[in-house]
Amino acid sequence: NLSNRLDGIVKRLRGKGRLTEADVDEIMKEIRAALLEADVNVTVVRSVCNRIREHAIGATRSQALDPGQQVVKAVNDELVRILGGETLTVQYASKPPTVILMAGLQGSGKTTATGKLALWFKSQGRQPLLVGADLQRPAAVEQLRTLGRQVDVPVYSDPEDPILTAYEGVEEAKRLGRDVVIVDTAGRLSIDAEMMEQVRLISGAVSPDYTFLVIDAMTGQDAVQTAEAFHETLQIDGVILSKLDGDARGGAALSVKEVIGRPIAFASTGEKLDAFEQFHPDRMASRILGMGDVLTLIEQAERAFEADQAEQAAARMMEGEFTLDDFLEQMQAIKKMGSLKSIMSMMPGMPKELKNAEIDDEMLVPIEAMISSMTAEERARPQIINGSRRGRIAKGAGVEPGEVNRLVKQFGDMQKMMKKMGMTGGGKKGKGKRG
Ligand code: GDP
Ligand code: MG
Repeated sequence: NLSNRLDGIVKRLRGKGRLTEADVDEIMKEIRAALLEADVNVTVVRSVCNRIREHAIGATRSQALDPGQQVVKAVNDELVRILGGETLTVQYASKPPTVILMAGLQGSGKTTATGKLALWFKSQGRQPLLVGADLQRPAAVEQLRTLGRQVDVPVYSDPEDPILTAYEGVEEAKRLGRDVVIVDTAGRLSIDAEMMEQVRLISGAVSPDYTFLVIDAMTGQDAVQTAEAFHETLQIDGVILSKLDGDARGGAALSVKEVIGRPIAFASTGEKLDAFEQFHPDRMASRILGMGDVLTLIEQAERAFEADQAEQAAARMMEGEFTLDDFLEQMQAIKKMGSLKSIMSMMPGMPKELKNAEIDDEMLVPIEAMISSMTAEERARPQIINGSRRGRIAKGAGVEPGEVNRLVKQFGDMQKMMKKMGMTGGGKKGKGKRG
């Protein structure tokens, strides 16, 4: 599977300073395969890969990530960017009601999404009215009425004519003082001229504030043609992706977003009415790449790097070779990790009192400033820090000279203690690799 393949590449590229074009080509081959496997449309795959490639070429070795891992991360970031971007926030019409038109193929989940959307609008403090303008199938309006009862929202329909129904539905909302109208329409199993004409006329009759296209996430490759056809006729404002609770790989989301450039507003994730949420680009990106595992891989690499650094430093500490430079490096790593406690607990031989100490990361700021103000020699041999050096360091760090004194003393004590523990075999001397 993809995670394994990427994992292999990442391992092979480990330690490389910079990626060659050939390396990137190899990675892109895997990414392309992954996107196609996820049912992303072929032309969309091509354009997305080109953009990812540009990012990947520039990837050089960072502190924590190998180039291979960086590429994986770049791919993920790029997908999130594409899927996210401009988001959709519903702007309510200044003169109610706000009219929403639902469009999509038959079976895409329109009617279900209409009911779910009504519930969502209610949660936003609105009072929706549903309009059943799908008169194609006899059961369609009844399905909508059932949903309406479940979410406690009135349903309007006139069996005579779908276009008239839509028009009258909006009038009905004005009469009843309902501030949002959601118009459910008919679909066909595939796009046809008659259906497009009907939904176009409905759109003309109600002048919707928003037209949502409901796309079945399982559609895969076909999603592009569907989205293009509807967008040409209706000017889609946003997409509702349905049936995300199934095993769809999510490629439809990426394809549709690329092709019509409109945001994916909602995700429908089940038959239950509250299985409906605003769309999360990051979750979708992971799903498309099937790479919950790959992201874990990146996280693990970052953690491994920090742990390795800590172990090396601890080994030097035991040997009494731990310098203020090591100390500073440690602290920078700690700050990146977010918690001093976690690194303390990782260090072998760290006294229990220290491990459990509540340590405020804010404390690190002046310490970092002081060490940064020292010369290389001072950092290696703090004992040379005399009065004038102390004054200079304190001034550079914006602290009192007494604080410099305290740091040097504490560091010296720590060094002594570590040395003692190392010699008495209290630590794991010799286990750490020297870098
Ligand atoms: P419409 O023809 O576009 O109105 O589609 P429907 O709303 O009638 O949905 C078609 C079928 O898909 C129904 O059986 C729904 O219960 C089912 N369905 C709709 N949305 C979802 C969803 O998010 N998850 C699942 N599992 N089923 C859904
Ligand atoms: Mg329907």
